[in-house]
Amino acid sequence: MNLDNLNERQKEAAMCTEGPLLILAGAGSGKTATMTHRIAYLIEKGISPYKILAVTFTNKAAAEMRQRVERLTGVCPGMWILTFHSMGLRILRENYEAAGYEKNFVVYDTVDQKALLKNILKDLNVDPREYPVNYIGAIISKEKEADRSPQEYLEEEGENFKSKIIYSVYREYQSRLRKNNAMDFDDLLRNTLHLLRDYPDILGEYQRRFLYIMVDEYQDTNHIQYEIIKMLAAASRNLCVVGDDDQCIYQWRGADIRNILDFEKDFKEARVIKLEQNYRSCGNILSAAHSVIRNNKGRKEKKLWTEQEDGHKIVYTRCDNDKEEASYIARQIQLMEGPYRSFDDFAVLYRTNAQSRLFEDALRRQMIPYQVLSGFSFYERKETKDMISYMRLVVNPKDDMAFLRIINEPKRGIGPKSIEKLKVLAEVQGKSMMEVISDPEVAAGLPAKAGVSVMNMAQVIELCREERDNLRISDIYDLLLVRTGYLKSLEDQNTIEAEGRIENLMDFKSFIYDFEKEKEAQGEEATLEEFLEKIATDGDADKYQSESGKVTLMTLHSAKGLEFPVVFMPGMEDGLFPGHRAMDSEEKMEEERRLCYVGMTRAKERLFLTGAAYRVIYGQGDYTRESTFLRELDPKVLDEAGDSVYVPNRRTVNSVGIDTGSLDGFAVPAYKPYDPLQRARKESKVNASGNDSDFNAGDAVAHGKFGRGIVLEADEKTVTVIFEEAGRKKLARGIAPLKKI
Ligand code: ATP
Ligand code: MG
Repeated sequence: MNLDNLNERQKEAAMCTEGPLLILAGAGSGKTATMTHRIAYLIEKGISPYKILAVTFTNKAAAEMRQRVERLTGVCPGMWILTFHSMGLRILRENYEAAGYEKNFVVYDTVDQKALLKNILKDLNVDPREYPVNYIGAIISKEKEADRSPQEYLEEEGENFKSKIIYSVYREYQSRLRKNNAMDFDDLLRNTLHLLRDYPDILGEYQRRFLYIMVDEYQDTNHIQYEIIKMLAAASRNLCVVGDDDQCIYQWRGADIRNILDFEKDFKEARVIKLEQNYRSCGNILSAAHSVIRNNKGRKEKKLWTEQEDGHKIVYTRCDNDKEEASYIARQIQLMEGPYRSFDDFAVLYRTNAQSRLFEDALRRQMIPYQVLSGFSFYERKETKDMISYMRLVVNPKDDMAFLRIINEPKRGIGPKSIEKLKVLAEVQGKSMMEVISDPEVAAGLPAKAGVSVMNMAQVIELCREERDNLRISDIYDLLLVRTGYLKSLEDQNTIEAEGRIENLMDFKSFIYDFEKEKEAQGEEATLEEFLEKIATDGDADKYQSESGKVTLMTLHSAKGLEFPVVFMPGMEDGLFPGHRAMDSEEKMEEERRLCYVGMTRAKERLFLTGAAYRVIYGQGDYTRESTFLRELDPKVLDEAGDSVYVPNRRTVNSVGIDTGSLDGFAVPAYKPYDPLQRARKESKVNASGNDSDFNAGDAVAHGKFGRGIVLEADEKTVTVIFEEAGRKKLARGIAPLKKI
């Protein structure tokens, strides 16, 4: 029988098919494995696959679960193994009339959603600069997630100027979705909830159908998802939820950890089975993970054990700087790869996407194949590509591909018709689109607002082009970023996603700084042309493709449920991991700690923690402090010899050069890392603002590229300076990175 691969507890859980069951167990204890075996067991017992509903978190996890079940039982048509959203969609399709929709209703993705919101703002005369589409969209989504109607939102929020506006947009948004016979993603859950609540007969049908319901990764369900499941299972009460409260890492997106802690209250007769044997990791890895997570309050205490040997100890290495950290990891992988380990045995799990770039660089240098999972590789990110296109236009205004990429980035209101017109004009005149648009007459022929913003963009690019010998690449970058409105449009969106893009843009600037420094060290000047060439060749990722497996790079968040023989967790520093925003909130700190636990428990055989004593984030270098989580780590599991240079009593210097005292777990003074992203953004803006405008002959000045000098003369448009080293230069006013000293 199938269940023979399971241990006694797992078997018990798999065979406990009647009544509510909570499988609460730590990472790698075989929760997902038990669930797939449980499904197979039900089918073998003669239960129709049609009566089984299994819900999980991602499409990838759902597909994998189906495969695992079918490996045990053969193909099972009619069985629902899917995500919450696809479950909602199916139920609503089957009952569109009761849900108040017509047949073939459509589902709006985020692009459609934004377009609709934009129209509404326009029609309601709401200024999108004050209420950006993404900002309002996020509020509406949150309200829908909490199952609050526009009216309920208003009551909750209290009537004020802002809440009334959001109320009216929200109401109009809902009514237009209806009119268009459309739902957004939140509706898929919310409408399902309402349907089941308002139509007892429909609910009854599903209750009779789904006699056996299972939910994996239960700790990350939100309120509505829980309500739906509770209703579906209310009659049969055969509900099995599987989760680990220590792995709840989506609270910031509405996951409610109470769902798991309260399960026993909602289902009083529930059996609770704890799985305590871990099959994934060696002893030392488990102890390490446990020693960190036990610092969280409000958790159900559970301790995992393993039959496996203790294995290697955890290696912690504090490198001198972030680049050294990346090459250290690449070297380690190179050393360990061989007959017993292939590249796909390794994973580098970092806290933020912005960290991936240094690892990509280091792995390329060592010719190690890698893949960046979920989220794009540094060179493939939209915002990086946009900025590269701007820079390409500075070097080569004939680059129509680049032009087409950025003409509406940020949105300038150039419709497809105008673009078509420009294309034709360019062809007729034998010019490039960029050249055509630099003609004021052409710009005047565009819709009024579009014309102005396009002219403005063309001017910025042209200025950068004329002045590029007088500017560093990073100056040009800042000018493009700020003066084309690109940065501003992201800031206006005010969403987590936009914030992430800004992080990436600032990280791209660090990359430019690196290039400039490298060149400087070689005594050469860094030109924009060379920089773009480097990008074009580096970006050619195909060179590194390989059949023999690849190292995986991904964020800790996306690593949930996965496992790897060797795991690296870089960036173990306060302010990075735990993240900057968690430093003054116990609640956020606990979520970060769970994330740390998730990361550590992905490792089967070896776990490497690293950090950098000096890190450049967004072009701003600073000394770091070792992560709080390192102080919590049981020193017994740390490798004292070899690579591990962790000395518990070492004194560390913080960002302003103050000794923060011994780090052995006692009396560490309050420490709040500065926010490097804010600082980097500000720097870009100051740099692109043209700095001082008022120069007179005789002023002593400093220039970003040429150093110190004295102003010879200044007129409306130019400033002429004699520099100590670079000699006499005529610079464009308002753009030259020039400061009085
Ligand atoms: P996570 O919390 O990370 O989602 P999990 O509890 O779902 O982990 P699984 O992914 O199901 O754990 O299992 C972890 C590993 O242990 C897998 O490689 C699985 O094949 C193995 N495993 C599970 N149960 C057993 C068992 N009884 N005997 C041998 N190996 C097992
Ligand atoms: Mg699992």
